[in-house]
Amino acid sequence: MLIVQKFGGTSVGDLDRIQNVANRVSASLKEGNQVVVVVSAMSGETNKLVGFAEHFSKNPRRADMDMLLSSGERVTSALLSIALNEMGHKAMSMSGRNAGVVTDNSHTKARIESIDPSIMKKALSDGNVIVIAGFQGVSEEGVVTTLGRGGSDLSAVAIAGSLEADLCEIYTDVDGIYTTDPRIEPHARKLEKISYDEMLELASLGAKVLQNRSVELAKKLDVNLVTRSSFSDAEGTLITKEENIMEQPLVSGIALDRNQARVSLVGIADRPGIASDIFNRLATQSVNVDMIIQNVGRDGHANLSFTVPMNELADAKSVINEFQEADEVDLADYDDTICKVSIVGVGMRSHTGVAALAFATMANENINIVMISTSEIKVSMVVEEKYAELSVRSLHSAYKLDS
Ligand code: ADP
Ligand code: ASP
Ligand code: MG
Repeated sequence: MLIVQKFGGTSVGDLDRIQNVANRVSASLKEGNQVVVVVSAMSGETNKLVGFAEHFSKNPRRADMDMLLSSGERVTSALLSIALNEMGHKAMSMSGRNAGVVTDNSHTKARIESIDPSIMKKALSDGNVIVIAGFQGVSEEGVVTTLGRGGSDLSAVAIAGSLEADLCEIYTDVDGIYTTDPRIEPHARKLEKISYDEMLELASLGAKVLQNRSVELAKKLDVNLVTRSSFSDAEGTLITKEENIMEQPLVSGIALDRNQARVSLVGIADRPGIASDIFNRLATQSVNVDMIIQNVGRDGHANLSFTVPMNELADAKSVINEFQEADEVDLADYDDTICKVSIVGVGMRSHTGVAALAFATMANENINIVMISTSEIKVSMVVEEKYAELSVRSLHSAYKLDS
């Protein structure tokens, strides 16, 4: 089998752990597999580097940030390769560029445009185990780029796709995908399988365990994706097509996103094109808007609320200030002490009353719901941050997800 094995930050968190990873890779090789390893930076390393940059500037050049941040993954790939060679394997470390990963040039959140697998294939056929620095690529101009936080998952899936690997294993510090973050709800249950669509929703709605773009790509390229622990031999969770899952539960999981802020605009000029003007302006400032709610206007004025990622709130504020100065918005109110709790399940497509149970659960706990949004397979609610954990636990038990 050709297997891509990705090891996250905690799995390579110190030198002993890198040795542990080398032992695992070695065992896989001894079973006769061809192995391509993708590694993250040692845990805390990327944050540390971000902190270093912030010491000098609030607004560093994004290309410089990529030069800086991509170094973390390179350190791990070189160390792991050194450890594997020492164990008698023929190992070779590669940067994103060496592995043929070409991206667009939107630095710090680049998208992969293509992967040329020829160098990797040559190295594999020469009997090497290759150890690739995740999270990075190179733009057409030849400048190093990074793929956004958590992006090593995306590297692994993209590389698995381009090599047509039999399996892509994501090794992390939990032994699979749980019904909710096991750090919040100790009764969370490990899932044997989950569909790409549900995993994509959970990841997009805050479950950190897999980066959302990696799940999207795995679905598109039909990559067999397994999440498992690098610290145990427990079987992991298979992320697969919906038709491969026999019995779909109503709700598969609950996600929490603490990284959200609310923006509310009161007294907006109620005219055609105003929403387009506001959201276009936000988009050009790269603000990612979510959960938009507008109510019916009165007396020529409407109200509008939406959420944005916490670290984009400052940019959102400056856009809204422009509209206030132009007298198109009366009042703006911002709140960064909120969070978003979501329930996800493909079973919702065919069952009624799922959302009603969520609202009743919050009511029972006396938790006020600030905003609501739904789609075919999810219900999201914005609540005050202080209720984050209580909300997750109550919903987890209301939908009978407890183990
Ligand atoms: P890595 O460094 O290996 O990439 P991450 O920290 O990105 O690991 O992701 C693993 C973490 O994701 C776990 O420690 C867990 O707290 C969190 N997590 C959130 N939601 C879930 C879930 N539904 N199932 C499993 N883990 C989850
Ligand atoms: N090191 C990067 C991060 O911390 C990428 C990754 O770990 O996936 O976001
Ligand atoms: Mg991760």
